[in-house]
Amino acid sequence: MAFENYEVWFVTGAQLLYGGDAVTSVDAHSNEIVKGLNDSGNLPVKIIYKGTVNTAREVTAAFKAANNEDKCIGVITWMHTFSPAKMWIHGLQELKKPLLHFHTQFNKEIPWETMDMDFMNLNQSAHGDREFGHMVTRMRKNRKVVVGHWKEEKAQSKIAIWMRVSAGWADAQDMLIIRFGDQMNNVAVTDGDKVEAEIRLGYHVDYYPIANLVATINEVTEIEVSALVAIYKKEYSVNDEQKNDAHFNRQVIEAAKTEIGLRRFLEEKGAKAFTTNFDDLAGIDQLPGLACQRLMAEGYGFGAEGDWKTASLYRTMWFMGQGMEKGCSFLEDYTLNFDGEKSAILQAHMLEVCPLIAEHKPKLEVHPLGIGGKNDPARLVFTSKEGPGIAATIIDMGNRFRLIVNKVNCIKSKDLPKLPVASSLWIPEPNFEVGAAAWILAGGTHHTSFSYDLTVEYLEDYAEIAGIEMVVIDNETTLREFKKELRMNEVYYLLNKSLS
Ligand code: MN
Repeated sequence: MAFENYEVWFVTGAQLLYGGDAVTSVDAHSNEIVKGLNDSGNLPVKIIYKGTVNTAREVTAAFKAANNEDKCIGVITWMHTFSPAKMWIHGLQELKKPLLHFHTQFNKEIPWETMDMDFMNLNQSAHGDREFGHMVTRMRKNRKVVVGHWKEEKAQSKIAIWMRVSAGWADAQDMLIIRFGDQMNNVAVTDGDKVEAEIRLGYHVDYYPIANLVATINEVTEIEVSALVAIYKKEYSVNDEQKNDAHFNRQVIEAAKTEIGLRRFLEEKGAKAFTTNFDDLAGIDQLPGLACQRLMAEGYGFGAEGDWKTASLYRTMWFMGQGMEKGCSFLEDYTLNFDGEKSAILQAHMLEVCPLIAEHKPKLEVHPLGIGGKNDPARLVFTSKEGPGIAATIIDMGNRFRLIVNKVNCIKSKDLPKLPVASSLWIPEPNFEVGAAAWILAGGTHHTSFSYDLTVEYLEDYAEIAGIEMVVIDNETTLREFKKELRMNEVYYLLNKSLS
């Protein structure tokens, strides 16, 4: 249901050389392909067939219309007959929406016995798609190329990934991120060029004084608070010792008040993501832990210590993964566990870890926090599920943004009786030594946006649409090659800058 307001347009390329019968067949086949894709049940966004384009004027009209239709989050092109690619130049110059080039064919197998020249005049994807592809490459336009028969699940699943990413991209184009407080002083990696981010990635970052939020929190009523506290007690387990403890209950009430106020503030401003800074909490009872955890689970992007890049990336990754089962979270590389082959990194934060990744029902607890000088914060405590996932971050290299993605494997964690925070424990691919070294060489943050559900392909599609650098650390990674890639990219982006 999450993507029901979006659509993807399907535009078929052909030309008028082959006569009226061919035009009719191209149209009928395109309709059948689009219907087949929509009926497959494998695509999260519905496809609308926008007709066959036979001339430059028709291409340009179709792509201009796609730009102007808010519901349209991307365009799929496919060449049924040969479609001379000069006719695509002006249209491609116009196109602002993500592009997927589907290299498919109406018939699955060659009809060896019956194939004649009429058949060949109609079914020309094999060479028609290459002619089109040449022009897209010649014009340096980013796109995803999917190769496969349209009835095959493998090809459909690649389209599905691109659709989810395109939806995330559309969502980011009117994303407002609110920062309460600035970056944590002197921290470099969480900072960056917010103007360039808006130009390149679409989202807008604003600042609001914490006093404005405090005013909204102070308007929250007791009735609202007790309703939310009742939800907490249903959704989370509370141990008997704390259940009747006056201090615990007071702190949970304050946390609920903060959550309601924070959500209201974000709703009123139309924000999809936010950041906090524990140095800037004047007027708030406690560091908002529980509120951040619950808002993240609802899809609000979150970054701690003013980290707006991670907040935006979390929102986008949550958005792409809607309806998927295993979850995502903001995380921080917390502390290392050297243990030979099983060397791993504990992932946690002071409080703000998203409960979507919890293995079991989270425990609601209140404990002192030795930082920030505020009252004891409420938080959800849990360990994460086991299994593979991806950790991602975007850094500002000064002349470009770099997306860094590391495949990681979450392993069984242990309880932390003296450190009551939510956590995960993972081994980065290809192993701890190489994975962590590559991440550091790439300049990656200590904060990440993590997902069990998304694969590297999602972020590859995202980087392609955004036109930003991406480096992947996985089982194929060796440090020697990785360092070469970083150096080559340095040259590529310098040249690319002067070309554009
Ligand atoms: Mn942090």
